[in-house]
Amino acid sequence: MSTQTVKAESHPESMFEAVLARLDKAAKIMNLSEDVLRVLSSPSKQVKVSLPIMMDSGKTQVFEGYRTVHSTHLGPSKGGIRYAMDVNADEVMALAAWMSFKCAVANLPYDGAKGGIKCDPRAMSVGELERLSRAYAKSMKDVFGVNKDIPAPDMGTSGREMAWIVDEFNKITGEDSPGVITGKPVSIGGSLGRDAATGRGVMVNTLCALKKMNLKPSEVTAVVQGFGNVGSHSARLLAEKGIKIVGIGDHTASFYNEKGIDIAAAIDYAAKNNRILKGFKGGTEIPSDQLLISKCDVLIPAALQNVITEDNAGKIQAKLIVEGANGPTTPEADPILNDKKIICVPDILANSGGVTVSYFEWVQNKAGYYWTEEEVNTKHDLKMEIAFEQVWNNTAQYKTSMRIGAYITALQRIEQGVKLKGAY
Ligand code: GLU
Repeated sequence: MSTQTVKAESHPESMFEAVLARLDKAAKIMNLSEDVLRVLSSPSKQVKVSLPIMMDSGKTQVFEGYRTVHSTHLGPSKGGIRYAMDVNADEVMALAAWMSFKCAVANLPYDGAKGGIKCDPRAMSVGELERLSRAYAKSMKDVFGVNKDIPAPDMGTSGREMAWIVDEFNKITGEDSPGVITGKPVSIGGSLGRDAATGRGVMVNTLCALKKMNLKPSEVTAVVQGFGNVGSHSARLLAEKGIKIVGIGDHTASFYNEKGIDIAAAIDYAAKNNRILKGFKGGTEIPSDQLLISKCDVLIPAALQNVITEDNAGKIQAKLIVEGANGPTTPEADPILNDKKIICVPDILANSGGVTVSYFEWVQNKAGYYWTEEEVNTKHDLKMEIAFEQVWNNTAQYKTSMRIGAYITALQRIEQGVKLKGAY
């Protein structure tokens, strides 16, 4: 395995450039120190590895693995590991920076990191995925650490991969360190409530925003794009609060039903159908590009990045967008949404429920004492409500969008850490 430093290619569609554009904007509005802006504009550590894996066919395939630590000013770095074909240095760098801002918005004692392996997990056997996950853990043994860098699940990974990674890490170090990774299965040190946490955060943020808009959950409809961990739990929890879910979709099919979709039936269907919605009968199938622009009050993009663009932003009918995914809105789409007076609860706030309960998992692992699901959910909801309120207040104070308000909230905290810890 080789370890080398990588640089992001700067192409116009660079995700990291998109992060820097918003960072610069927030920095100007809040008058962030130029030194701090310089520090935050470059990730502090980037590792790229080559992972040779024996495939079931007997052939060796070499996979690219990444881990980028964006910063470590408020605490150890934290962020998921993604298995997807579009994983690259630029994307991982952007996602790592977002994690720094996300952790700071939620007021967690962490900075940001992100990892990924360029692979198609759906096309791989369980054995191949296990060998790949273990090889990745081994190659990142000097990066990860309970008080250093703490990974978690992200797109294409779940508790299963976390279990392999913590086991490999423990074998290498000869110690049991459950807190080196979060999002583990509950039986090996995971936290109750972690699985649904990102969706729960989306639900709490949606309710907070509706309250500010003087709307009752029972009066509004919602469309949820994405039906993986984030989308399905968001849809389920929003429906439980009385919101009528009129549209859902995943990468295989999208559905609309103005009378409301039975979310429990959709979850059941996907569970029995290889985790995909194709063939679901609880609504009319619509073209996937219609889902985001279909009639609804609340839109929850909870699938991929860059789905709300300058091409479709003008056609969005929702009054409120709550970003379950990381980076679903391009910088070009932001002003269009703002002009239309659509309130957009940005990703770094809206989906911070996942990392918040990851933090609770880490705290429980350190203490060796485990909480009930109710305790986890109560603590989570409170943290989310406080974070929402702080972002809302900064948005009003600086007369800006909630996205920039969230960046300002994060930067105020990170600035303190950078200044207090100083530089060489
Ligand atoms: N991957 C999730 C995110 O993007 C969770 C990260 C974590 O729990 O560390 O927020």
